[in-house]
Amino acid sequence: MSLLKKRAWELELSVRGHTLQYKKQLEQWQWLDRSEVERLQQARLASLLSHAYDNVPYYREVLGRAGVVQDGGNVRLERFHEIPLLDKDAVRANFETLKSNDLPLRTWSVQSSGGSTGMPVELIQDKEYLDWSYAIKILDDEWTGLPMGEKHAFVWGSVRDTLAGNETLRTQLGRWIRNEIWLNSFRMTREQMERFVDRLNRYKPVQVTAFAENIYDLACFIEEKGLSVHAPKSILTSAGVLYPHMRQKIERVFRAPVFNRYGSREVGNIACECERHEGLHVSAGTHYVEIVKEDGTPAAPGEYGEIAITLLTNYAMPLIRYRIGDLGTMSGEPCACGRGLPVLKDLIGRTTDVFINANGDRIDGRMFIRLLMLKPFIHKFQVVQEAYDQVRIVIVPVDKTDDHRTRYARDLAELAEDTRKIMGSGCGVEFEFVDGIEATASGKYRFTISKVPRN
Ligand SMILES: [Zn+2]
Repeated sequence: MSLLKKRAWELELSVRGHTLQYKKQLEQWQWLDRSEVERLQQARLASLLSHAYDNVPYYREVLGRAGVVQDGGNVRLERFHEIPLLDKDAVRANFETLKSNDLPLRTWSVQSSGGSTGMPVELIQDKEYLDWSYAIKILDDEWTGLPMGEKHAFVWGSVRDTLAGNETLRTQLGRWIRNEIWLNSFRMTREQMERFVDRLNRYKPVQVTAFAENIYDLACFIEEKGLSVHAPKSILTSAGVLYPHMRQKIERVFRAPVFNRYGSREVGNIACECERHEGLHVSAGTHYVEIVKEDGTPAAPGEYGEIAITLLTNYAMPLIRYRIGDLGTMSGEPCACGRGLPVLKDLIGRTTDVFINANGDRIDGRMFIRLLMLKPFIHKFQVVQEAYDQVRIVIVPVDKTDDHRTRYARDLAELAEDTRKIMGSGCGVEFEFVDGIEATASGKYRFTISKVPRN
């Protein structure tokens, strides 16, 4: 049956576009050595830049000014770092001029994303980009132990299912062909979690793909209640940050290895772990990933910085050096698997607000991430600026049974003092211990929230 479904799925894909062809291409690219990968990226980057210069009004100006492309089409990649970073605000402000002039000749659609920061951003996505994205997804599945057509379960927040009340008939048919079941984790009650376990036990999926937070919560629930659960061959986590203690618990409870994947609604799947688990391999033929320090210069391997993505497949609206809103580091070492694709070593998803203190200073929320992420007793946190001189730090502790205020009194005092250093000596700091912090629709959650008006 699964072979039959696989054939039906492949047929559907070959009718709809180039996904299977692109997947073959990705399969070859993954085994190139490091220098071949670099050459491939440079060639694809140069062709994107010259397309952008010729067809996209915004980039004609920006690339010309940065001296990256000159009239006559000469691309100077050594000046790539001179291109200003692009963020959501810039996309919103320049939406019209970021469109490629050849849109009428392309097949494209509009994607709205980024509800997590409050203001959604609209992007134009090329059909080619969508086909490449699908191909990456299928390859990632194979890397992580799920051949096409095998039983696949999702523990995933589906906005569509939540809004529709249920799966539509068309969705149901697609999921049946792909051999998928979806456990909608948008709101997970204890009764629902019990039903999820029951469905997993009956369906026996080869792989479970899940929001990191949700499968972790489910693992905690299963362990706490002493339930028995089907062990899939692997678990693929995506969306949100997978902390080491989360990975350990998920692997223990499901008796299966966890693979992490990194992606976003704006640029699709960017990187995925291979069987060696030494970091996440960047899909280098489709995504050029840079780690940029606060002053805009490139970070060295092992150094943390902001992740900027250049999408090599979306010609309808090129995104060049796009600030995706996450922090990470690149590894300097090749992975033992032999793939030459660059390795993202560590990832910190973030969505931060800027705080403004009583003096009018603007404080980057990342300051708090650095303070709080180093405390081993903190599982998750959120920093809320209630007023100019009042900050509330919400903490989900690793061990929920502790008497935190006594046991971590020194850490809390230190955090309060550091917060006052950042915000001003008159700032009040309170701590709140909670069981969970709600994630946004995209599966990420906001690290910092400011309730203080900007001006
Ligand atoms: Zn590898």
